Amino acid sequence: MLFDLQPKSRREDLYDRERELQEFQSAIDLGERMVLLLGIRRLGKSSLLNVALTESGMPYAKIDVRSLYFTHGSIPQEILARRILGSLLSTISSSKALRLRLEKVLSSVKGLKISGFQVEFESRPDLAEILEKINLWAEKEGTRAILAFDEAQYLRLSGIQYDGLIAYAVDNLPNLTFVLTGSEIGTLHDFLGLENPKKPLFGRYAGEIVLERFGRDESINFLQKGFGELGMAVDELEIERAVDRLDGIVGWLTMYGYLRGVRKLSENEALEELFNRAQALVREELSTLLAYSRRYGIILRAVAMGNETWSTIKEYVEFKGGPINDAKFSNLLNNLVKYGYLEKKGRKYILPDPVVQEAIRG
Ligand code: ADP
Ligand code: MG
Repeated sequence: MLFDLQPKSRREDLYDRERELQEFQSAIDLGERMVLLLGIRRLGKSSLLNVALTESGMPYAKIDVRSLYFTHGSIPQEILARRILGSLLSTISSSKALRLRLEKVLSSVKGLKISGFQVEFESRPDLAEILEKINLWAEKEGTRAILAFDEAQYLRLSGIQYDGLIAYAVDNLPNLTFVLTGSEIGTLHDFLGLENPKKPLFGRYAGEIVLERFGRDESINFLQKGFGELGMAVDELEIERAVDRLDGIVGWLTMYGYLRGVRKLSENEALEELFNRAQALVREELSTLLAYSRRYGIILRAVAMGNETWSTIKEYVEFKGGPINDAKFSNLLNNLVKYGYLEKKGRKYILPDPVVQEAIRG
């Protein structure tokens, strides 16, 4: 169902994204070592990743780095190793032989215990060794193993040099492909440092798949198709009104369709509920950021209220929050761009998502 709120995982529930799926597949077929899947929040990265991984027909492991980080407050190697192996074992579970051969390759890893999909380590694992074993197994099987990290920028917050580990794997383990998604595109680029001579991944190549919002016609068609699935006739003007407010951001379109089509709210109720939910979501997403500096909130508000240039935003921020020096202000503003909350177009800063803009304006 198109209007299911969960990230999609079946091809038939995913609207379009044909080009992106093809790009993903050709990156895998070409044996690329690293693929980045980028786009602001709610454009469908996790959904695309799920479907692309299943469609690839390759063994893969998928780790939700964001939830791992928030569950544990960091990303210890042991937990990451367990998740990678647990996920990989479950995606190959339909072939007993494949699974047994993987367990055999892993049997030389000291302290590793596997029962079912449960993976335990008796001593601290060496993640590089685990990756070497997966690579060896994939090589023997004549395949590639895909290791996918959803919202990979959170790997930077672990205190462990995961960028160094990825660099080691990219250089030495040819049967692995790393897929990294990121809503915080600037942060992910900074973390990887493909163009930063001081970073271990400097100079390496990564294929990039950039998700864009749907165009107007596509958005209208998405809603029509979703309501059609539910056997519901919805006035074309209503659909146009929804698209006018929600833009082509598939997460919001899906939520509108869900509230209107599944929950059967009226047009106005559905929109009201959507904006309430959006406000709660945005508040939660911003909470970590606001703990660092409440000025982030003031800057976002400044932009949400229509201030667009460096100086008008700064004026608003100083009016609301007191004096701030230029360098510090620029730093906060640039961070918001890196985190994907703001976009810079020429000299102007904008909020890329009109629903988030409304939620911040309050
Ligand atoms: P992201 O990971 O970029 O934040 P998600 O994959 O979580 O985005 O998708 C956000 C919402 O939009 C979810 O409700 C998901 O079901 C829906 N969605 C995303 N992409 C599509 C698509 N191509 N077709 C149908 N629904 C989609
Ligand atoms: Mg996601």
